[in-house]
Amino acid sequence: MTIRVAIAGPRGKMGKEAVHTVMKAENMELVAVLDHREIASNLVDYQEFPEQYDVRVYTNLNTLIEEMKPEVFVDLTTPKAVYAHTKTLLQYKVRPVIGTTGFTDEQLEEVTQLARENETGAIIAPNFAVGAVLMMKFAAEAAKYMPDVEIIELHHDQKLDAPSGTGVKTAQLIAANRPAHKQGHPDEHETIPGSRGGDIDGMRIHSVRLQGLVAHQEVLFGGEGQMLTIRHDSYNRQSFMSGVKLCIEKVVTLDTLVYGLENLL
Ligand code: NAP
Repeated sequence: MTIRVAIAGPRGKMGKEAVHTVMKAENMELVAVLDHREIASNLVDYQEFPEQYDVRVYTNLNTLIEEMKPEVFVDLTTPKAVYAHTKTLLQYKVRPVIGTTGFTDEQLEEVTQLARENETGAIIAPNFAVGAVLMMKFAAEAAKYMPDVEIIELHHDQKLDAPSGTGVKTAQLIAANRPAHKQGHPDEHETIPGSRGGDIDGMRIHSVRLQGLVAHQEVLFGGEGQMLTIRHDSYNRQSFMSGVKLCIEKVVTLDTLVYGLENLL
């Protein structure tokens, strides 16, 4: 059976890769893409895709859904756009696969509830790279034995949200496996605000933004006289595409929202 897929953000770094992935997949059909600028009416007009990519571009999500009836909608846009997109999709019972990061806890709760009410499957995956999911799993396991942790996440300098969705998700998984406690000296004092990074349950998280980086993370576990480092690197956006494909295939079998690729592996 062929899955009818639409993608938001086709001009973006991730969106472009996702377009190629869906176009190449034998069990998927790319029925439409969503842009927020009136630049082109067809994918080929962007001049970035081969001429056989004859796919209509929409700038209105409701019209796209009503006319092209996608079963799955992949969102790779911005934290500003993704929440409204997800709500609209669930109201129409179109299954979202959300790669865009930056959901707040309240927004996550709301869309989870909306998916349940509409009995519509949805996946929000802060990281589509299988290696990154394993990094999170191993980190959660290590925290049972080495509960003093700091996270350093490193991304390209065009990323809009900090800390990264992966960093937050890692901290949440670790938090579930260790008692919350404040790390560092009880009297420590920042002479430059922010020096110690963000705080999640006493765990510090640091965000590096530099040209040349793609998506990387180190989880540091300190113990007496020892240190364990778990690191994952995505060197290009291709690293995310097997996860995108897996999510499109899995979401059609779901009727609730799943947060995190680790729950599908
Ligand atoms: P990007 O290159 O900036 O691409 C985002 C694209 O979305 C841009 O072309 C932008 O257009 C477009 N856009 C913005 N608002 C839109 C809207 N309302 N409707 C349709 N298109 C819209 O960013 P990226 O690196 O591809 O990343 C996209 C998102 O994926 C980010 O949130 C990033 O954190 C996340 N990400 C997730 C993973 C994962 O594994 N889950 C991996 C990497 C990145 P303009 O340029 O005209 O604004």
